[in-house]
Amino acid sequence: MKRTVCLFYRVPQLRFALLLSLWILLSGLLFGWGKKETPKTLDGEEVFTRDRERMVVTQIEARGVRDPIVLSALRKVPRHRFVPKSLEERAYDDTPLPIGYGQTISQPYIVAYMTEALQLKGTEKVLEIGTGSGYQAAILAEITPHVYTIEIIPELADRARKTLNEAGYRFVKTRQGDGYFGWEEESPFDAIIVTAAAGHVPPPLLSQLKAGGKLIIPLGGPYEVQMLTLVEKMQDGTFRTNQLLPVRFVPFVRKAESSQ
Ligand code: SAH
Repeated sequence: MKRTVCLFYRVPQLRFALLLSLWILLSGLLFGWGKKETPKTLDGEEVFTRDRERMVVTQIEARGVRDPIVLSALRKVPRHRFVPKSLEERAYDDTPLPIGYGQTISQPYIVAYMTEALQLKGTEKVLEIGTGSGYQAAILAEITPHVYTIEIIPELADRARKTLNEAGYRFVKTRQGDGYFGWEEESPFDAIIVTAAAGHVPPPLLSQLKAGGKLIIPLGGPYEVQMLTLVEKMQDGTFRTNQLLPVRFVPFVRKAESSQ
């Protein structure tokens, strides 16, 4: 034993090797191995991705939405970019959220439910009335490249256009105006989705719907429970109506009121 120790001291290469291994061992303990035990913290985007996945599983799939095209769209669209910065952390909660001007971004489940009811395959021309934040338009844009959306409040229309552009949905066609009249030049549409509650289905929307097309709209008075209604245009031009689900939407208005 004594002889071995002496050997280390006398042979400089061995001494060097010994010190080097001690140094490696110590720095490993201090910097490397210690760190492995503390969990890796997620950055902002990773937290949103995790929350979005949780939203799809617990709020959407759990309530029976099954269409893989719809589920995949909800997994992709960064909902936190469509809500005001101050509400970003609540973007994946099971609730509508205020977006300013007295309007709201719909609850994720309702967005999924309405989108699924349209039974889109991926090439349809779709019109949305009530752009709001632009989130529903982005969901549609994940499904088909032919999305048209109209918003009556100028400030919201501008902001949604900007949000959609920045989030990579530049191809969505936006317009500011009264959606009651639809988008005549671009009609007919395979599907129309109205995201504000109206007392009746605007007749221009019915005539801009293709035969075989579907329109979904919350019907009922403002500030009361409305009935989500699916209208299908038959090949002979008649309509078949189905009441789907009680909902609560902001009112469909005919003239933008500036409340903020
Ligand atoms: N789809 C939106 C939520 C819509 S809230 C989203 O994903 O965020 C309903 C929107 O419809 C509001 O922004 C409201 O200003 C708009 N709106 C109400 N009446 C309208 C009309 N006649 N024409 C177009 N938009 C209308």
